Amino acid sequence: MTLKEGDAALIRSYARAAYPAECCGLLIGDTAADESCHITAIVPSPNTAPDPTRHFAIDPQIQFDLMRSSRDTTTRRAGSVLDEFPRLRMVGHYHSHPNGRGEPSAEDARMAYEQGVVWIIAAVAADVVSLRAFVPDASGFKEIPVRA
Ligand SMILES: [Zn+2]
Repeated sequence: MTLKEGDAALIRSYARAAYPAECCGLLIGDTAADESCHITAIVPSPNTAPDPTRHFAIDPQIQFDLMRSSRDTTTRRAGSVLDEFPRLRMVGHYHSHPNGRGEPSAEDARMAYEQGVVWIIAAVAADVVSLRAFVPDASGFKEIPVRA
């Protein structure tokens, strides 16, 4: 999976800014949601979870707007990232772990029912935010390498 250095830096800064809460957002790409995936843009979301220090929930409106704009060019909102890259699609999401753990949590495992979704986890430990990527598989999650 490739993630541009600028987008990686953005996720790190969102993770630091949200601390001690979790940040979250969507990953936009131009290929399959697996090891070969190229992330071409990220779309930050408010964390709408009732307890954002322990969980994350992406604002459904953001997902809705993106899906609508990728399907229907007549109702596409101006300023959507998909205006610029009309062939892009949602390939996954990112969220941060303020506890510094880079692995998916038990809660993440419960949410990983959807195949073909790339997960990026940003572990916040002191000033260092490290990014790891995973895809759900039969045994839970499989880690995939992140390249710039
Ligand atoms: Zn998590």
